[in-house]
Amino acid sequence: MDAHPGLPLSRPCLSIWQRTTRYSPLLNEGLDAELPSSADAVVIGSGISGSLTAYELLCSPNGPKTVIMLEAREACSGASGRNAGHCRPDAFRGFSALSKIHNPEQAMKIIAHEKLVLQLVKSFIDKHGIQCDFDCCRTYDVIMGEDFHRYATESFEAYKKAGGDVSDIAWLDADKAKEATRVPSALGAFEWSAASLHPAKLCQAILAMNKSLGMSLFTHTPATSITPSGSPFAPWTINTPRGAITTPLVIHATNAFAASLLPQLKGFVTPTRAQAHKLVPTPAFTGTRMLTHTYSLRFALHHFYSVIQRKADGALVLGTSRGIPGLSEATKREITGSCDDRTMSEELQDDAVRSFKRVFPEWGEEALGEGLECGWTGILGMTPDSVPFVGPVPDLPGQYVIAGFNGHGMARIFGCAPGLVKMMMGGTWQDTGMPEVFRISSERLQRLAQQ
Ligand SMILES: Cc1cc2nc3c(=O)[nH]c(=O)nc-3n(C[C@H](O)[C@H](O)[C@H](O)COP(=O)(O)OP(=O)(O)OC[C@H]3O[C@@H](n4cnc5c(N)ncnc54)[C@H](O)[C@@H]3O)c2cc1C
Repeated sequence: MDAHPGLPLSRPCLSIWQRTTRYSPLLNEGLDAELPSSADAVVIGSGISGSLTAYELLCSPNGPKTVIMLEAREACSGASGRNAGHCRPDAFRGFSALSKIHNPEQAMKIIAHEKLVLQLVKSFIDKHGIQCDFDCCRTYDVIMGEDFHRYATESFEAYKKAGGDVSDIAWLDADKAKEATRVPSALGAFEWSAASLHPAKLCQAILAMNKSLGMSLFTHTPATSITPSGSPFAPWTINTPRGAITTPLVIHATNAFAASLLPQLKGFVTPTRAQAHKLVPTPAFTGTRMLTHTYSLRFALHHFYSVIQRKADGALVLGTSRGIPGLSEATKREITGSCDDRTMSEELQDDAVRSFKRVFPEWGEEALGEGLECGWTGILGMTPDSVPFVGPVPDLPGQYVIAGFNGHGMARIFGCAPGLVKMMMGGTWQDTGMPEVFRISSERLQRLAQQ
């Protein structure tokens, strides 16, 4: 298994999160250090998945003594360092779609798991006193189109009928929604609990904790292949341009790039480019007039924009979606299957900013220094059944994967990483608390291959 169709590209563009943490001492950690030739565990990927999995391993009483992390670029430079800053559980909306893809029981579990993850993120940040602009807030799904109105309402009713907990969800009819959301064209809105945060600060804080627990991080060190070592005690050799490491335990936390080292995931974890932007508010959105909630402006199921106004500095983060109608073929090609986070799309940016201003007409004229400041891209790992691959890799004893977060990792990883480590330490799937459909298995891969 030495094929690697793609590695993260060097010198990617910088997100707002990276631009504001260029001071982090871990960015280029281990660049000049000699790579050890062996370790008890090697985590590949320094995003939130890799960082949290390593943390849980380091804290396990019977966990590995030596943990090494390999990162192809600078620390936390994948999706975790370039997302839209939302930790936003699905409250009910995905119920219908997930029921069709899987079944209602699993759909219910997925939604319950996301709610739990919000609590897990909060308690982790509180417990460790992590300064990452974490803001527990309420969020709106603002309904901007009739079709989505129908879809969301049906999904809400189906979720409720199936016994889903709707106690945290408020429905606002058109009049109430227009007033509460400040969106004059709103057809209604659902409201529930969510959070926003500075994802790079969170990830870097976990990496720093890992370092103090003894983990060695080697940035700019891509794993290029994994080969059998021939040793019964440490059966895997991870090859890198800086040398090879032999280990009994490999964790693939490479998200969009998982198929590079695990070719059996080719076609099942598809790199897909996403884009977000930073806007400096006009006076109508400053001080006491800042947005109190985060938003998803929902024109259709796959046509939406996420909006966060950060309490920390008042900046707005505007995320885009893949289903914008009328996109040029060139832009569509730039999205699906793309690993290029060096560049961004002017077309997506223009659409997002134009749509945002139309939705919030109060925005008004921009003075110099207000309005769009920058945009950036990052690579998502999409799976055909909308859920990640977590667990022991079939037929490769000692190799585990946590990848394929479908652009929604902040609402899943804090449940998946501790669960994965429980399995590594001998626990059962039931011990992990994860929905069964997250599990990687030969059956799942075969089923997906037949679809
Ligand atoms: C623009 C954008 C907006 C988003 N918005 C949100 C949001 O608001 N809410 C939300 O929940 N999610 C959002 N996401 C998705 C979220 O960021 C991801 O689901 C999450 O960060 C995945 O974390 P991860 O650690 O699994 O992957 P990553 O953070 O991508 O980490 C994988 C790491 O592995 C490294 N790597 C890959 N291959 C190798 C190799 N061979 N050797 C060594 N290292 C390797 C990569 O360089 C990378 O650092 C967004 C993503 C993007 C791009």
